[in-house]
Amino acid sequence: MIRLTQIKLPLDHDEMAIESKVLKTLKIAKGDLLNVSVFKRGYDARKKTNISLIYTLDVDTRCNEQLLERFAKDNNVRATPDMSYKFVGHATEVPAKRPIVIGTGPCGMFVGLILAQMGLAPIILERGKAVRERTKDTWGLWRKRELNSESNVQFGEGGAGTFSDGKLYSQIKDSNHHGRKVLHEFVNFGAPEEILYVSKPHIGTFKLVKMVENMRHKITELGGEVRFSQRVDEVLIDDGQVQGVVLQDGSRLESEHVVFAIGHSARDTFTMLRDKGVYIEAKPFSIGFRVEHPQSMIDDCRFGPNAGNEILGAADYKLVHHCQNGRSVYSFCMCPGGTVVAATSEEGQVVTNGMSQYSRNERNANAAIVVGIEPSDFPSGDVLAGIDLQRELEQRAYQLGGGDYTAPAQLVGDFLAGTPSREFGEVQPSYKPGIKLTDLEPSLPEYAIEALREAIPAFDKKIKGYARYDAILTGVETRTSSPVRLKRDESYQSINTRGLFPAGEGAGYAGGILSAAVDGLKVGEAVARSMLGIAIED
Ligand code: FAD
Repeated sequence: MIRLTQIKLPLDHDEMAIESKVLKTLKIAKGDLLNVSVFKRGYDARKKTNISLIYTLDVDTRCNEQLLERFAKDNNVRATPDMSYKFVGHATEVPAKRPIVIGTGPCGMFVGLILAQMGLAPIILERGKAVRERTKDTWGLWRKRELNSESNVQFGEGGAGTFSDGKLYSQIKDSNHHGRKVLHEFVNFGAPEEILYVSKPHIGTFKLVKMVENMRHKITELGGEVRFSQRVDEVLIDDGQVQGVVLQDGSRLESEHVVFAIGHSARDTFTMLRDKGVYIEAKPFSIGFRVEHPQSMIDDCRFGPNAGNEILGAADYKLVHHCQNGRSVYSFCMCPGGTVVAATSEEGQVVTNGMSQYSRNERNANAAIVVGIEPSDFPSGDVLAGIDLQRELEQRAYQLGGGDYTAPAQLVGDFLAGTPSREFGEVQPSYKPGIKLTDLEPSLPEYAIEALREAIPAFDKKIKGYARYDAILTGVETRTSSPVRLKRDESYQSINTRGLFPAGEGAGYAGGILSAAVDGLKVGEAVARSMLGIAIED
């Protein structure tokens, strides 16, 4: 097969245009073309009035070899790479000491799946509840201001990405095509087929819930186990080697292979790991607000007369500004046609995030706009000082909102002018359980406020209306990535604790659903290599 890249066609091209373009590009007769399939479809919207679709195509012809030779100097004509997944091995029997995976986020689920597929019968432990019960608890905070600190947006089956926009793209290097395996598995578990070929796939919350359940059933069917409401409170380490874990009810599970795929909000578990002497270091993350604009404004700005086109969908954006005070401000986790959600996992705190449904048809676009911060900004030199800062800011936001999980918010115009907000304009906030208009200045450190005040007008130059008076800022966005890294070596084990495999976002090795899932596959392979005695590849 031949892979053609950078095949450009108009947005409104007809069905036959792809085939015609292939024949023209390869200079072959129709009779020589056997098959064409779309591997990827993106778009180029730099000219709003002339938006093109950009295809990557897999083509089969009667003369593949000759064509590859003829186009040897053309980087856009290459042999289709073998992207099929290769297991590192298979167990011949269920091991006496089964591997333990902590966490059922995308990372833990993919560690569990791959281990189960290799016959290693993992035991997966999750502090939160199964996804249907968890959904009720999560809505409990959004609707009734009742937080369940063990079952919420951060904790429970599916992990942090379950109530989300379900964006499935990442900029990680992926020479072994692990991302492809993840997308194929997602489709097997109920995701729409299009995630395999659109350049920025997303799933949305409702579909994610069903997929997560299907994935669990598969793991169980393959001999794995998924146990809910089983928080790991202690890791047992003897002479630098993991021996097992202690659960919240005091029971013990023995294993010499324990994966910590605990996400970035398991603050108590990070504390336990530090106290047990597992190597942890502080790492940079970002803080800021969620901003909401009308989605129609973003669509008009990005797509002009093509706004509303079905192929393009609701427009997204990505912005960055380097400030005079040395800070960088950037947009993050943009949710087209979505809502802002309450995302705390601890009582007395307010944290924002965003989600959407597959249709992305809510009236507002939302995104985090955040300022990068370094360990030198943290209140102390402790490895967990980033968590102390997060807690402090989240508690401040809770107080500013009035102390009942209402989030503090301000209109962009007032924020830029430094005056408290009193009433909404055209943009209505989507955050549940509700917002209180106020002055957001006390909610973040001075340098962050200064950077945001410089960045928003700069963003307005890229997206007209970004700094509009009535756009809404809701505070605070603090759980952008893990504030710690659980450093690991080339065998994916902690650098000072054998058998402890830090994984995913919480360990500081992923950010986002796809990259966490890919990291899960890599860690699962590493566990299998260790258990099956397979050497690490170069
Ligand atoms: P997590 O998903 O955080 O999973 C960790 C799991 O471990 C949790 O279920 C937790 O309960 C469990 N756990 C923690 N401690 C223990 C313990 N001691 N014992 C037992 N279990 C434990 N990313 C995207 O790519 N696209 C998006 O659209 C997107 N939207 C998001 C929207 C929201 C509201 C949120 C909160 C996040 C969003 N993200 C998105 C980020 C994404 O969800 C995370 O990057 C991803 O979930 C990280 O995966 P993970 O498996 O490493 O950790």
